[in-house]
Order: sequence, then C-alpha cells, then structure tokens
Amino acid sequence: MSEQNHATRGSTPALYHVVPGVWGLRNVFVNLFYVRDPEAPAGPWVLVDAGLPGSAPKVLDKAAFLFGEDNPPAAIWLTHGHFDHIGALHTLMARWPDVPVYAHPLELPYLTGRSSYPPPDPSVGGGAMSAMSFLYPKSPIDLGDRVKPLPEDGTMPGLDGWRWIATPGHAPGHVSFFRESDRTLLAGDAFVTTKQESAMAVWQQKQEVHGPPAYFTCDWEQARASVQALAALQPEVAATGHGIPMHGQELRDQLTQLVQHFDQQAKPAQGRYVPQPALADETGVIAVPPPVSSPLSGVLLTIGVVGLLTYALATQDHPAQQQRLKKAKA
Ligand SMILES: [Zn+2]
Ligand SMILES: [Zn+2]
Repeated sequence: MSEQNHATRGSTPALYHVVPGVWGLRNVFVNLFYVRDPEAPAGPWVLVDAGLPGSAPKVLDKAAFLFGEDNPPAAIWLTHGHFDHIGALHTLMARWPDVPVYAHPLELPYLTGRSSYPPPDPSVGGGAMSAMSFLYPKSPIDLGDRVKPLPEDGTMPGLDGWRWIATPGHAPGHVSFFRESDRTLLAGDAFVTTKQESAMAVWQQKQEVHGPPAYFTCDWEQARASVQALAALQPEVAATGHGIPMHGQELRDQLTQLVQHFDQQAKPAQGRYVPQPALADETGVIAVPPPVSSPLSGVLLTIGVVGLLTYALATQDHPAQQQRLKKAKA
C-alpha cells in the first residue's frame, strides 16, 4: 500500500490538504471540502457540502484560515442533501447572504421542504452506524430560492475546470464533482473510502474503497451504475463524503474491484431497498417498499451511541498539525 493510502484518523488532522487547491475538513464522521483554482490563490473559492448541524463555527473558522476573513465563497455545491452534508447550511447562508447553493434538480425536493427522503434502512447491517440510522434526520430543509439547479451543461458555477456527474442511487439526485486537469474526484457518498456502516471502521478511518453508505442508499441498481461511471473516469484522487482521500493506482484498482463485485462488496444481502428501489422524481419520493425488521438493531444501537460519544471527544484540532498545514497552504 502506498504511503498516501496508509493514513489514519490519528495521522490526519481535521483540516487536511487533498491536492493543490482542495482541502478537506473532517466534521466528526463526515467530510466537506474547500476548493479553489490552484493557479489563482487570490481567486474565488467554493464550499462542497456543509457538514453536521452545529458545525458552522468550525466551517467558518477554517474558511477564514484558508481564504481570509470576510471572504465568502462564490458558491456552495451540494453532492446531496442528507443531514450530515447540509447541517451547517442555514447558518452559513445567513452569514453569506449572497452566496448561491447548487444541487441536482432531483435533489431539490429535499432542500426546498417539498419531500422527505426515503426512510433510512437499519436492516442492511454492517454495524452500529447502520443500526442507529433510524434516528438520522430525513425531513427536508427549506432553502427557498437560495438553492438552484445545477447548469444542464455540466459546468460548475463559481469555479472553472470542474464538472458535475449525475451519480444517483445513494440519494435520488446525488452528484459528484470532477476536475479533469488533475483527475480529482469529489464523490460525495456515491462511494466512500471507509466502511461507513461500522462505527469502529469510521473511528479508525482505515482507507478502503467501499460502496455508498448502505443505510441511506435507496436504489442499488442506480448506485452500481454510478460507481461504474466514476471508475471509468480513472481518478487520480478520490475525496469522498466519509473516510480519508485515496490516491493513484490503488484507488483505481479498488474501484474496479468494487464495480466487478458490487453485489458482494456493496449491496447488502437483505434490506428494504434491495429487492426494489424507492421511486422518486422532481417532486420528491413517490413510493417506498415496506420496512424490513432486524433483531440486532437494539444491541447495535447501544454500541453506536457509545461510539458517537467517543467521536465527539476526538474532533479537536492539534495546533502542531495546524502549523504544518499553514506551510502546505503556501
Ligand atoms: Zn448520504
Ligand atoms: Zn454521508
């Protein structure tokens, strides 16, 4: 395994450098990203996703550190609207009143108060993060007309050199972002680089390509096609919604494996959305299959709550790491 793909939570500060012009912020168990043109240090920047509820002060603090005080982004790009990717949005939008938010048209119902997401599926197994998923918020937020549909031509408002790719399955209007010049992929939850269903794996952050977090994935055939589309891009770097970014041939090999063995590696053996998907359109959810019960849920829930409390204690920054990052910024 190459050095780059050998990182852990312990060796990766909360704010980390991904590639020139891209930084990640680990917010308890989810990532968000700060992006600018590496050739234009004083140019515009964008925020990709918006973390957990309550994370706005941290997001703002890191933005000021990277781009200076009172320097709002040109836009906020959303991979999708699950609670752990939009938690700070209301506060950030109040702080940045002129900054537009962009999402795929099929994701807009969940961002404009029109529809709840398909319910999470704790029966998919895999660990405590799954078992607890019935607790995760799924109600829509309402960003009103501040949230706009992504341009149909695939370009990204606010920053040149990036395009969006429709990667549905984990969420109906999930998208990924790709920078052709250095083959950097921001994949959201289309696939991730940690076993997100397991609290233990999430804690360790061991780097491995995994399918989308199973408890929220509501269409497994779409999810498979999305991973296939992303693997075909042959990314050099993949920074995902959960886990530490992965690089190079090892990333591509693991993505190929995931495509070839998607049913064994990603799709749960059983689950609410395994036999049939949730149906959704631009108005929101139309139909969902009935729930599947899981006898293990209670035990795993207890483990999960303990795990989450542990994360909360482990999210502080280390000053030395911040110093190193300051140098990397140059
Ligand atoms: Zn998600
Ligand atoms: Zn997520």
